[in-house]
Amino acid sequence: MTTTEMLSEPGVQPGAPASQFDDARIDVRNLSAYYGKFRALDDVSMPIASNAVTALIGPSGCGKSTLLRTLNRMHEVVPGARVEGTIAVDGNDLYAPEVDPVDVRRRIGMVFQRPNPFPTMSIRENVLAGPRLNSKRFSAAAGAERAEDALRAANLWDEVKDRLGGPASGLSGGQQQRLCIARAIAVSPEVILMDEPCSALDPISTLAIEELISELKRNYTVVIVTHNMQQAARVSDTTAFFTVSGTGEPGRLVERGDTARVFSNPAEKRTEDYISGRFG
Ligand code: ADP
Repeated sequence: MTTTEMLSEPGVQPGAPASQFDDARIDVRNLSAYYGKFRALDDVSMPIASNAVTALIGPSGCGKSTLLRTLNRMHEVVPGARVEGTIAVDGNDLYAPEVDPVDVRRRIGMVFQRPNPFPTMSIRENVLAGPRLNSKRFSAAAGAERAEDALRAANLWDEVKDRLGGPASGLSGGQQQRLCIARAIAVSPEVILMDEPCSALDPISTLAIEELISELKRNYTVVIVTHNMQQAARVSDTTAFFTVSGTGEPGRLVERGDTARVFSNPAEKRTEDYISGRFG
């Protein structure tokens, strides 16, 4: 099936009506992603709505993380990696020659699977690491305020306000992940990408992050890769399901749509098989 056919199926958000893409903060069109000669993703077109959580789901190797990394130009950091197609953010081509990838990564932040705070740096300095890298000079008072704002936005402030000068390594895994989210927020991004942010966390910490994700969408556009279907159902507004038909084959978008609809009434049998646990 071609992408055009796939996208015109009932229940699948097609690329055709301009209005859907007009509402999109991010507009992915005909995107293929390569590692050298290997095509990891084939011809993906999807809008990503602003102030909403979009979940990317599908079996291992279907290209979820690759797609996520194309959204802030981290994909091309791998030698030989490249993309075809376009990604526009608020109508601006992310891959235009004049666009600075470093600036893109500031505007579109990323939170990884394993919390990766700078372990010897204090909690406060971890939060301020991004703004300092961007060489913005600010006073101690402004730094303190910025750190507090980001820690509050990451639902971590109350737990750390008495030990801001203590090392990040003294925090639990779940707290470290919220610290990384605070660090991402501190540079005032427009979009936050999360690559399985709870996969290394216990259920209580996972719940805290999920609650946080639901709050973040008030101010940010969030895209999350998750292996956990319940998590996708709980936190996301839109779900995009990808699959891959075999080794050496590229990942493809099967369907995307309103999360409740995708989980309750998938348009594609492959989606139904996956969400009901028949494969993957
Ligand atoms: P998912 O996140 O859905 O598990 P990935 O995006 O990680 O899938 O991987 C998609 C495909 O790209 C897989 O076949 C994977 O082996 C391949 N791939 C991922 N990263 C690299 C890389 N750095 N170099 C070469 N191939 C890669």
